[in-house]
Amino acid sequence: MNSLKPHWPAFALPDMTLLAGTTALPVSDYFADIDPCTGQAFADIPAATTEHVNRMVEAAHTALHHPDWRAMAPLHREKLLHRWADLIEQDLPRLAALEARDTGKPLSLAEAVDVPTALNWLRTYAGWPTKLAGKSTALAGCPDHFHAYTRREPVGVVAAITPWNFPMVLAMWKLAPALAAGCTVILKPAPESPLSAFRLAELARQAGFPPGVFAVITGAGDIGAALASHPRVRKVAFTGSTATGQKILQASIPDLKRLTLELGGKSPSIICADANLERAIPEAAMACFFNSGQVCYAGTRLYVQRSRYEQVLEGIASHARQQRLGPSWDRSSQLGPLISAQHHAKVSAMLARAEAAGISVVGPVQTVPDTGYYCAPRIYRDVPATAEIAREEIFGPVLVATPFDDIDEAIALANDSDFGLGAHVWSNNLSETHELARRLDVGSVFVNCVLMADPALPFGGMKRSGLGRENGAEVFAAYLEPKSVVIGLR
Ligand code: NAD
Repeated sequence: MNSLKPHWPAFALPDMTLLAGTTALPVSDYFADIDPCTGQAFADIPAATTEHVNRMVEAAHTALHHPDWRAMAPLHREKLLHRWADLIEQDLPRLAALEARDTGKPLSLAEAVDVPTALNWLRTYAGWPTKLAGKSTALAGCPDHFHAYTRREPVGVVAAITPWNFPMVLAMWKLAPALAAGCTVILKPAPESPLSAFRLAELARQAGFPPGVFAVITGAGDIGAALASHPRVRKVAFTGSTATGQKILQASIPDLKRLTLELGGKSPSIICADANLERAIPEAAMACFFNSGQVCYAGTRLYVQRSRYEQVLEGIASHARQQRLGPSWDRSSQLGPLISAQHHAKVSAMLARAEAAGISVVGPVQTVPDTGYYCAPRIYRDVPATAEIAREEIFGPVLVATPFDDIDEAIALANDSDFGLGAHVWSNNLSETHELARRLDVGSVFVNCVLMADPALPFGGMKRSGLGRENGAEVFAAYLEPKSVVIGLR
């Protein structure tokens, strides 16, 4: 099949060979890659088998212990990571096109956000290999004729399993620190969006990474499960739904695998009475509608102090109506479709149930293009805390709003959730913002700014939003095992 629609500029699909080290593995089955803007299949993706998983994990295990990787000087590893970053930077237009084609997000967004963000992460972690030293220490309970020190050993073969909303960014959140730490990695992208992963692997080979250090495998959840439960995989770095994260946690028990689980969210946005609304309204809209709401820490529950409630609702609804919905190849598009027919059906059913229960939309809602899996951005008002749309992750451009009277009530409403990933706050009261930051049960709080994940800061969730942290210096605890060495000197 592998054909591109005429409205796309000519760009080649990446090499999709499944590799175990340098060995190309034969593939007999393929699945279709669907363009969410048209519903049309445009590429055939290798459907891996458990035999492929076994061969690739063995190759990753061999590469882990091969001197070409294991004994590589840290400075050389830094140069390799930077060389890879240079190639990605030169390849930005093609990578962005692959990402936009796969996910349906506007090409301009993939160019301005996805590829540059992945690069920021890679460049940040490229500087780390020379700084990942252990330490020497005096022993607390012994005389000083012992020399004691720690080493930081790579945890081993890593399975990186990612979702479809930011395929390249979320892959790089795992690849960059894992490779900086000296691990080897097998990346399993979501079946909806595998192309950028193959292109990243192609560029890594060009950069000079030894065979088997980084490979890509494609398939559905069964392949993710086979990879995550393989005994030679020592660590699973997963981003996806809470339900899948729970299965991975369960499967990790026999081997006591190391895990980071970045899961779902239902993040609150709190707008206080003294906030600058000229800023808070468009930012709160963006916190929810960006990437068509397919953002794990999207601000999807809006709490507004009562005196400003009507003004904020009208402002955000008006913002929602002005968003230009359109296909990824059209540079005037601001919001693309949802990822798949299945996801669109799930979101639509949830909204139909909310409306049947009498929850009202701040209307009117704009109409959507005829083809593609579009969902118009919308805001529901006066939503009870018990409503399904207030409790469950929708993963679409849907905001649920509720007024509050004082800060204690806002905090109680915001914390009344099974999730705890992020929170947004708009306030000009310094002590109020610190109070909110302290008392919100979430992994990240953004005050008077929006969706500001950064490689310098740990990112992850409390409660059902996850386990462990990605990013920041803290991420290396997930990819390095401390080892203590004690030498008796006499
Ligand atoms: P998903 O859990 O269905 O799939 C994620 C990945 O896991 C895919 O590659 C899938 O093939 C694989 N998978 C499925 N079953 C598996 C199993 N049993 N074992 C191993 N792997 C398996 O999630 P999705 O629908 O692709 O993505 C949407 C979800 O991701 C949302 O819940 C969203 O909140 C979450 N997400 C979280 C973050 C974060 O950083 N916390 C970021 C982005 C998305």
